[in-house]
Amino acid sequence: MKIALYPGSFDPITNGHLDIIERALKIFDKLYVVISVNPEKKTLFTAKERQDILEEVLKEYPQIEIIENRVLTVQKAKEMNATHIVRGLRALTDFDYEFQMTNANRVLDKSIDTIFFMTDNQHAFLSSSAVKEIARFGGDISAFLPPYAAEKMLEKTKKSAQ
Ligand code: ADP
Repeated sequence: MKIALYPGSFDPITNGHLDIIERALKIFDKLYVVISVNPEKKTLFTAKERQDILEEVLKEYPQIEIIENRVLTVQKAKEMNATHIVRGLRALTDFDYEFQMTNANRVLDKSIDTIFFMTDNQHAFLSSSAVKEIARFGGDISAFLPPYAAEKMLEKTKKSAQ
């Protein structure tokens, strides 16, 4: 059984993340979608809220399990018997960061490899941060997020505007 980990902030999951997940499922039998909890990083949604959104959006995929992670990604990969870490690539700007992370992970554990999927053109400029910015100004975010994530984003931005 081929097992992989797809770590990220997922604050919240976008159609770009979904695109990567669908590509990864063509190769891996089991995919752990991992919410990387980093207390240094400010997020709009709590880890529990992000988990709830991911559970709802990904409920039709029996091969997916959603978990939280507070340790190193390679450590979690080992623990879950995963051989690969999945990451997505958009524009060139992702490359530098991903290159550094992959190399660091390789030094930490060379038995775990990172595999990249290139996003569909239509998601190439899509990020959770851009969507949050659009939502903050009352823009229509429905084209960028799965419907449940869009609903939760609207609730959140309404609450913070009160
Ligand atoms: P992180 O904080 O770990 O970068 P993100 O949730 O922003 O978490 O992203 C997780 C992974 O998904 C990263 O590899 C990122 O490049 C990828 N990703 C994010 N948005 C997209 C997108 N629109 N298309 C493809 N990959 C994406």
